[in-house]
Amino acid sequence: MQFLDELAINKDNAGVSTGYEWSDIAGKEKIEVVSPVDGRAIATVFTADENDYMKTVAQAVTAARQWRLTPAPKRGEIVRQIGNELRRYKQSLGALVSYEMGKSLQEGQGEVQEMIDICDFAVGQSRQLYGFTMHSEREEHRLYDQYHPLGVVGVITAFNFPAAVWSWNAMVGSVCGNALLWKPSSKTPLTAIAIQKILGSVIRKNALPEGLFNLVVGRGSVVGEAMLADKRLPLISVTGSIEVGRHAAEAVAARLGKCILELGGNNGVIITANADLKLAVPAVVFGAVGTAGQRCTSTRRVIIHDSVYDEVKEALVKAYRSLRIGSPLVEDNHMGPLIDTEAVEGYVEALRQLREQGGTVLCGGGVLSGGEYFSGCYVEPVLAEAENDYAIVQQETFAPICYLIRYTGEVEKAICLQNGVVQGLSSSIFTGDLRESELFLAAVGSDCGIANVNIGTSGAEIGGAFGGEKETGGGRESGSDAWKGYMRRQTNTINYGTTMPLAQGIRFDID
Ligand code: NAD
Repeated sequence: MQFLDELAINKDNAGVSTGYEWSDIAGKEKIEVVSPVDGRAIATVFTADENDYMKTVAQAVTAARQWRLTPAPKRGEIVRQIGNELRRYKQSLGALVSYEMGKSLQEGQGEVQEMIDICDFAVGQSRQLYGFTMHSEREEHRLYDQYHPLGVVGVITAFNFPAAVWSWNAMVGSVCGNALLWKPSSKTPLTAIAIQKILGSVIRKNALPEGLFNLVVGRGSVVGEAMLADKRLPLISVTGSIEVGRHAAEAVAARLGKCILELGGNNGVIITANADLKLAVPAVVFGAVGTAGQRCTSTRRVIIHDSVYDEVKEALVKAYRSLRIGSPLVEDNHMGPLIDTEAVEGYVEALRQLREQGGTVLCGGGVLSGGEYFSGCYVEPVLAEAENDYAIVQQETFAPICYLIRYTGEVEKAICLQNGVVQGLSSSIFTGDLRESELFLAAVGSDCGIANVNIGTSGAEIGGAFGGEKETGGGRESGSDAWKGYMRRQTNTINYGTTMPLAQGIRFDID
């Protein structure tokens, strides 16, 4: 395939790099990467062993010491060049994201666009790593705070955003003066290798040290665990399931390190009696079916007012019946495959539990096979009726299953249902009523990190801080002031006078 050649993806690929240099592959454990699109083997990746890991982190530590001395706007200049390289490779990298992960070609290219956008954002941020200046309570004293780099930041990413999530962390983390160590999902390592090769040309052209941008492909139980335990990594950013994130948080806390956690969601859309259904229906369909329901922000629950319930249900069923399922590389298709057959098993099991708990499937539910569905990863998107307190509704099933939940009475009831799950990532309300929308955004409203009005739950812009509350982990990445998470804050007090006053007026006279 031409895009593989353009990205220098070979039949056999090393999975460890410190920038421009790549590790030996001899004797390493390997991963065969198979596309969920057509079930074909794409390439082989050789993973990091312990020796690779130790060598890579040692180099990263040395590079971080050097990089922190480079002025932040000059660090921004490197990120600007990375953004330009990504522009050159947008088509081919987008195609690889789509072929390796299974999301639509448009979404694959959208992911690369998001990388380009965060580069631009980080370049600007490199001139705005600001602290506050406060007025000191003491005479002839100055009080301010400033931000310094942390060192080496570990980035562990999930399969479903194999490119963009790394860039949120890496581009912002890099202008903040850190070296980066990336462990991508073992399900999508080729995208990571392609990105590392794109970075390589910038690293070489600018004679940057090896160790600034590092890639270590390997199992979570090997490379991931090594990172969690490694005191040389003061910060680990983890994007993944609640289960993995909880374990990571405990392991990193045990050494008093810091984590940015971006974990699972169980995102609800409220449709009130005052909603504009022309907006609500397409937003729900895209939110539930886009990326085959494999976004952390996918719409999983739709909480609908009794007075419009039947109308919404009918419109959704009609829309679902018109969806085209097939290769994500074909632009006309609405939904591609799940990541692998294990995910298909999870989908089938969730539907079994749903029925057992009293839910009704309105449409979809089949696993597609044969012909263009040869990979065994294609399923029909499901609309189902359920209650919010069913155990299966309380969980995030990473598949296109969307539950319709009826509410009666005031919007407070809908907000209570929307908040009634352990996750707290994304939420939205459809209403033309100001009182309802403002209540949803107030302290008593949505308890999620993202709360939208008259747009769906999925598809956040990079300019805002991205992340969620409760068991979604509380982390924030990307825009706004999320950069602060990648730096250490220092408060400075300077005495430029000739006396030694103490704070709080304390006197401590000595002869
Ligand atoms: P996952 O939890 O299976 O894996 C995530 C990453 O953790 C992978 O790189 C994996 O190799 C690594 N890992 C696994 N075990 C580990 C261990 N013991 N130590 C260290 N690392 C380990 O998740 P996934 O299936 O790749 O992705 C889907 C999940 O990610 C969903 O729950 C989704 O909601 C979540 N997600 C969240 C966000 C967000 O921003 N909140 C974004 C994307 C995905």
